Amino acid sequence: MEHYLNYIDGRWCDNDSHLTIMNPSTDEPFATIAKADINDADAAMAAARQCVKSGVLSDVRPAERTKWLLQIAAAIRDITEEGALICCRENGKSLNDARAEFIEAARYFEYYAGMADKIEGISVPLGKDYIDFTQYVPFGISVQIVPWNFPPSICARSLAPALAAGNAVVVKSPEISPAAMTVLFKAIASTDLPQGAVNLLCGEGSVVGAHLVKHQETNQIVFTGSVPTGQRILQDAALKATPSVMELGGKSAAIVFEDADIKGVIDSVKAGIYFNAGQVCSAMSRLLVTKNRYEEVKSAVVDMANSLTIGQGEENFDLTPLVSREQQQRVLQMIEQAKADGAKILAGGAAPDRAGYFVQATVIEATPDMAIAREEVFGPVLVIMPFDTEQQAIAIANNTDFGLVSGIFGESISQTLRVANQLRGGQVFVNEWYAGGIETPFGGVGLSGFGREKGQEAIYSYVQTRNIAIRLQS
Ligand code: NAD
Repeated sequence: MEHYLNYIDGRWCDNDSHLTIMNPSTDEPFATIAKADINDADAAMAAARQCVKSGVLSDVRPAERTKWLLQIAAAIRDITEEGALICCRENGKSLNDARAEFIEAARYFEYYAGMADKIEGISVPLGKDYIDFTQYVPFGISVQIVPWNFPPSICARSLAPALAAGNAVVVKSPEISPAAMTVLFKAIASTDLPQGAVNLLCGEGSVVGAHLVKHQETNQIVFTGSVPTGQRILQDAALKATPSVMELGGKSAAIVFEDADIKGVIDSVKAGIYFNAGQVCSAMSRLLVTKNRYEEVKSAVVDMANSLTIGQGEENFDLTPLVSREQQQRVLQMIEQAKADGAKILAGGAAPDRAGYFVQATVIEATPDMAIAREEVFGPVLVIMPFDTEQQAIAIANNTDFGLVSGIFGESISQTLRVANQLRGGQVFVNEWYAGGIETPFGGVGLSGFGREKGQEAIYSYVQTRNIAIRLQS
């Protein structure tokens, strides 16, 4: 079995203690990784602090950082095949999706390479006796905690803008699927990026993650993961009022109006809820359909769900396993609870009879107040519901504590914009789920979190504003 290491101060480090990584497609051990402890975390923080103090990231001309980020992007492209295979084996996702994830990771570095030398402040007019301007300065050390659903691309999403802005970074990878991130760091380690600028630790969240969050040297926290962990981290961050970005969960709804292109809707449902086995924070987990077209859409969605192929990621099946036995059991329990609450299973609803952590493509007809229609499942489970009026559709869509993304399917520009203006959340997809990209700002409201990733806007999550106000001497 392959054994993976942590990356601290420019060196690959082992530990006596190891974690076992499982292959979700086969339920067999796939690799081991050094389990970082608090001493490793302290060493990573010391390396990052040394790097920040030296000014090697923040004092150089920004074009230097552009150069490093472009080197990283090129190195990631070079290791895409190696990384994708490991990502597919440890995460269960399809090889094609794992490959796309590495390419997306490279794109984040290319995109923010282009921003490193454009983080410009403003001049503030205060009359002839004053000169006033702002600067955007890095925080120092950014601690970044990554979940297991898209480790390489979520890691790159936060790492690239943080480095572009001149921060050093300590990354905590997820215990369940950390190996592909070590491949990403192998690419980074092959570039001229200064020593200590990035460090990677795989350790228990409640031990190493919590230690990093509370660490005296931590200047910023970027957390992507579940709501309970985010809330815990915010409590710890409050001790030092550490600035934080929180990318949490979702229960996102798509609204289908009468004039929608139904084929386009079905394609979007397939990508929206069955891609990555539904383990996507911005998954389309609820489909609200106008009463007049409800039966037609329902039957097309059920046919599509029943037609999906299930199998190992390496063979690129439509539906791949969940990441762990625990997640599989959690999803199955939520389906059982939905049945007990009176919801109707229209497709799937069980685990197929095979090894691995699979759950069938599931479609559930429910009412808006049921737990299955309000709580995040994080699995291949779509809830479908009819609505009568536009206002009712908006009320159902907003009837959760989350507010990440939403979708509108229909031809009328006026109706689309009228509805988009009333949906709670950070992003609205129109006529195509996941219509955005790395260029479009992403983040939530309510329990989905705060702060923005992606797009030009994200760079401002990684800097703080300093104002210089000068009184001119006569
Ligand atoms: P999780 O909260 O269990 O773990 C996320 C990370 O936090 C892991 O690396 C874990 O080790 C670490 N962690 C756990 N306890 C910690 C603590 N006390 N202090 C510091 N770190 C700690 O989440 P998960 O199960 O890995 O991911 C699934 C969740 O993430 C879902 O709710 C999903 O919606 C959300 N998610 C959100 C986004 C987004 O961008 N909004 C993206 C992906 C996933």
